[in-house]
Order: sequence, then structure tokens, then C-alpha cells
Amino acid sequence: MTDTTSCQSPALDDASLSADEARQRMLDSVAPITHAEKVPVRNALGRILAADVIAPYDVPAHDNSAMDGYAVRFESLASEGETALSVVGSAFAGNAFSGQVGRGQAVRIMTGAVLPAGADTVVVQEVTRVTGNTVFVPAGQKQGQNTRRAGEDLARNAIALPAGKRLGPAELGLIASLGIAELSVRRRLRVAFFSTGDELASIGSPLAPGEIYDSNRYTLYGLLTRLGAEIIDLGVVPDRAEALEAALREAAEIADAIITTGGVSVGEADFIREILARLGHIGFWKLKIKPGRPMAFGRIGQAWLFGLPGNPVSVMVSYAQFALDALLRLSGVDPLPVRPLLPVAAANAIRKQPGRREYLRGRVTEVDGRWQVFTLPHQGSGILRSMSEANCLVVLSEACAGVQPGEAVDVQLFDGLY
Ligand code: AMP
Ligand code: MG
Repeated sequence: MTDTTSCQSPALDDASLSADEARQRMLDSVAPITHAEKVPVRNALGRILAADVIAPYDVPAHDNSAMDGYAVRFESLASEGETALSVVGSAFAGNAFSGQVGRGQAVRIMTGAVLPAGADTVVVQEVTRVTGNTVFVPAGQKQGQNTRRAGEDLARNAIALPAGKRLGPAELGLIASLGIAELSVRRRLRVAFFSTGDELASIGSPLAPGEIYDSNRYTLYGLLTRLGAEIIDLGVVPDRAEALEAALREAAEIADAIITTGGVSVGEADFIREILARLGHIGFWKLKIKPGRPMAFGRIGQAWLFGLPGNPVSVMVSYAQFALDALLRLSGVDPLPVRPLLPVAAANAIRKQPGRREYLRGRVTEVDGRWQVFTLPHQGSGILRSMSEANCLVVLSEACAGVQPGEAVDVQLFDGLY
């Protein structure tokens, strides 16, 4: 038997793998691209940090007020009854009070204003009473309340964001809060893709008898654009050896990863297998899953090949369950996002054969104040509409032998996947 665990050369066999084994094998195989480039903050959305971002100073830079109210010395306050304090000035965000707050004194302060010297506590204005220049503070205040300490968000020289982080809206804001205008990110992953199939027509041309429009390239365009990849669309490739070989050679020259759809099912695999065996090291897998059972994975030159099945739903399932995390790792993401599997009560019964993992299109919906998941009626792997109507995949384990209404099932929300 060939060693199928080697990262370098996945064996050319019909290994029947579990979903977890397949995913792990792909993750273990790929190593991140290394090139980096400098980009301005806004262009960094969705990109992956190539180096740690270090806080150049404390955030916030000064102790400041978390509320509108009065900055006081805690020791001024009586433990019982009201304390009368004289208001000696005001502090606004961006316009600090330059004096000292002494015993028996208070400074009117706004949210975000620097806490004046001498003050350690902010009393919210709602609990106070003001007469002329005197503010009355009730008992029961706590020392340090309603203040934000310098460096409590980030201390100077701390790692604000680690290399390998994928940058979202929170990270852009955090980077801006540090005054950083430009940062180093990994170059975009280059992903080439094409569809295979003699029956495929491209949109814009009329359908000949027996033809269907190629939808997979549009789905992949969407998936890969969201991923932040630089995409190279190589079109539709007919089921002919020379055409396929030429497309794969071209893709391997220019891309870090190649995604193909179609042509890996049993009937077609033999013909493609020969070409792939000649061009690189490719494993053909029959995964213990539904949908998306056939899949090819391996290497052609410097590029990783993800040979996804042809059915449009299978493409989306295989992409999310297998290719996505491998592509993220290739892009330099570390650690990989952990996608929650959430337990939700099934609204309907689900039939299922044990022995394989199943991914059903579902809709998580609130019914009478309770969250439930409905599986969509049409689960065929060619029915792309089900993906559009769904907002989650219901993931049924290998051992599961069917689900009764009300039973909890694992749900993977589409957010972050598609
Ligand atoms: P295959 O894996 O090539 O045997 O294809 C499985 C099914 O998916 C067949 O019904 C194909 O017509 C269909 N299919 C394959 N590629 C595409 C595509 N790019 N767009 C839409 N349907 C496709
Ligand atoms: Mg085909």
C-alpha cells in the first residue's frame, strides 16, 4: 500500500477518508506564502498581517473619564450623606483642565476628557445636584469609578495584533487608534480556477441542446473574492485531455492554488487521473460525506490543486469544509478561525444513514421565541437555490442515524463561510 499520509505526495488511490481526515491532511500539507507588501490601512481590510503590530504608546494615552460628570478626589467624599464640592473648572475631550483638583474640589468633566491631576474618581452627573458653583455628591461612590486608565486597552510596546491575523473592521479601527497609517500584509493568494465539462456554456451565449450554463465559476468568483484572493478565471475547459492538461499547466505557472470543478466523479476520474499523475502528485478521495463525495487534492509544480466535484451545492460544501481553511493557511492566516457548531433544535424529522457525515441546507429561524432549524425540502446537490434560501448547514455526524423533531442538531452558520 502507498503511504497516504505523506504531505509531499498524496497517493493516487481511491482512499475513502472521513471529513476530518481529509481536512487535516490538506492543512498539514500546505505552508503559507511568504511575500509581504505595504498597504494603507483601508486597503488592508481582509488582508493578513505579515508582522506583529506593536503599540507605539499606551492606549488610551491618558487616564480619562468614561462618563459625563465630575472628577473628584475620592478622599474628599464623606462616607455618609452628601458632600458639597466647589467646581473649579471644566475638562472636555481634547481640552484638558490644566490645574489640580484639591480636597473639597470638583472639575466638570466630559467623556473622554483627560482626568485632571489630583482626581481619581468620576461621579456621573445624573446622581449630582448643582447649586451655583457647588456640586452635591451622594454617598456610596467607589474609588476609581467611571475612569479609564492609561494603557488599559493596550500598553506601550505590547503586541496589538499578531502576525497572521486576518484584518476585519475592528482591526482597522485598532490600527488607526495607534496612529499607524500603513502596514505590512502578505501578498494576496493567487487562485486560478476553471470549470470542466462538455455540457457547459458560458453566460452570454445561447444554450445548445443538452447544455447548461456554467454556474460554478460565478460561485467561485464570489467565494474567492470574499476570501481576498487575486483570482484568475480560466473559463470552461472541455473534457479533452489536451485542453485539460494545457489549462492545468497554465494555472500551475501563475497561481498558488488551482480550483477545478467537475470531472472527479468515478465515471470521469480515470481520464483526468492520468493527466494529473503526469503533472504532479494528486490524491483522489471518496470522502465519507454527502454531498461532495469525490474530491482531488495535491500538487502541480508550486501550486496546490483542489479538484472539487461538479454539482453546484457540492462545490460550496467542499469549498467551505475543506478548501477554505487550507486556502486561509496558504494565505498566511494563523491561527485558523474556529467556526462554531451550534446546537439548535430541529424543527422537522431528518432521515440519515449512518457511516457518513451529511451537510444539509437549513434555515435557522425564531419560532415563538425559540430558535429552530428547518431543513429545506430540496436537498439535491444540483439545487443551488437551496444554498440561497438556507442560512446554515446542518451537520450530521457519521454516527447519526436520523433526527426526530425537537432533537438538537449541529448547525454551522453561513457567516464567515460564504
Ligand atoms: P461532474 O462532477 O463533472 O460529473 O458533474 C456533476 C454534475 O454537476 C453534472 O450534472 C454537471 O453537469 C454539473 N456541473 C458540473 N460543472 C458545472 C458547472 N460549472 N456549473 C453547473 N453545473 C455543473
Ligand atoms: Mg463533468
